[in-house]
Amino acid sequence: MAIKLFDSLQRELRTLTPAQPDGVYRFYNCGPTVYAPAHIGNFRTFVVNDVLRRLLELEFGPDKVKHVRNLTDVDDRTIGQTRKEGRPLGEITKKWTEIFHADCTALNCLPPHVEPTATGHIVEQVNMIEVLMQKGNAYRAPDGSVYFKVGSFEGYGGLSRIKERELKVTNTVADADHKDDVSDFALWKAYKPEEDGEVRWPGPAGAAAGRPGWHIECSAMSKKHLGDTIDLHTGGVDLLFPHHENEIAQSECCNGRLFAHHWYHSEHLLVNGTTMSKSKGNYYTLGDLVAKGYAPMSVRYALLSGHPRKQLNFLLDSLHAADKALATLRAFRASLVQRGQVSGAAKSATFDGVLAALREDLNTPAALGALFSIVNAYEQRPALAGDLTGFDQVMFALGFRLDRPAAAAVEVPAEVTALAEKRWAAKQAKDFAAADALRKDLTTAGWSMLDRKDGYSLEPVKK
Ligand SMILES: [Zn+2]
Repeated sequence: MAIKLFDSLQRELRTLTPAQPDGVYRFYNCGPTVYAPAHIGNFRTFVVNDVLRRLLELEFGPDKVKHVRNLTDVDDRTIGQTRKEGRPLGEITKKWTEIFHADCTALNCLPPHVEPTATGHIVEQVNMIEVLMQKGNAYRAPDGSVYFKVGSFEGYGGLSRIKERELKVTNTVADADHKDDVSDFALWKAYKPEEDGEVRWPGPAGAAAGRPGWHIECSAMSKKHLGDTIDLHTGGVDLLFPHHENEIAQSECCNGRLFAHHWYHSEHLLVNGTTMSKSKGNYYTLGDLVAKGYAPMSVRYALLSGHPRKQLNFLLDSLHAADKALATLRAFRASLVQRGQVSGAAKSATFDGVLAALREDLNTPAALGALFSIVNAYEQRPALAGDLTGFDQVMFALGFRLDRPAAAAVEVPAEVTALAEKRWAAKQAKDFAAADALRKDLTTAGWSMLDRKDGYSLEPVKK
């Protein structure tokens, strides 16, 4: 049975098949910018892509999938952070890369086969920019930067369907006076001592020393590790324009070939019904949720509870539901083992409906629905010898680890969490009188709240 996935470029469901004769499915997923912790909205994309990776492995074989996910370790934001902290770029990106990896491990995301960094691929980016300059798709600006000439690529706007007029409005940025046309974008940024500090490399022939633009890194790294044409390119919907539109323009003009056969974008995560922001108090990293006593596996479950191509509203309550669902799955697996089922027996078809739902446009809520209707009605059907194997395969596809309790040792009651949320909001609003009163309420309820710069944790008061 084939995997069908919505293609953002063709705007239809299309079957995934490896295009190259070696049968290897080439999959590129835009990775994080390592200058701060990734928030749970970022992790929605990574968890969805992890289910996709697992499904591809089940479909084509584990050695027939090549998954590349980059680390953006030089750009305006990472350099901005070095200025803010007064520490070298490499120190900052190393720290946040390690935290990102730890979060991915906690969420049970399989590591990509290759995780290239932008700073590790300067030569490849420079080479690509030189080809684009030679072909007339890029030009040197008076300050020594290099820009991509959007007007030179007829296919520009094909992915985002952006109109030329909108493009000019969107791309009007501070460096507009260096460009021939406001819609052109930077491939190489000339060194600015007051902004870039120590960060610079020799530029493409004819250009100044400086650093690559953000978009060129993915074109250069996917070319190096997957070849000119890849099978699938994915990312969050916020990357569709301009990042992915620009990647297509760079790669297709440089290589003279189709860049990606298939494009897939997952939607935004809302928290408490609105976009996440620190000022609204609804901004969570995985660390914030763990500090509140939630298990990473419950976070993974909650992130998969909505259709990946629809916005998902995340509530702390959904983590309680996720805890319960995972506990049910854990007990169900234990009951299969108790009945003498062994892992590794030839797989029964009992759970095939779950995988079928995933194969149909990665419909995770339909898959979870199918899973629980089988689990809940299991007693009413004859057990088959390969049911445990089938169940474990579904757990692999969804990436659920059942070997640890879903909930933390101490459960925080909902009313205590509500008090803590109120107090945190009061503190953010600098209403310290209200915050102090709420702290007393928490103490009365038997809990102490520990404040950190970016969040809080709750601990039962020791008696
Ligand atoms: Zn990218």
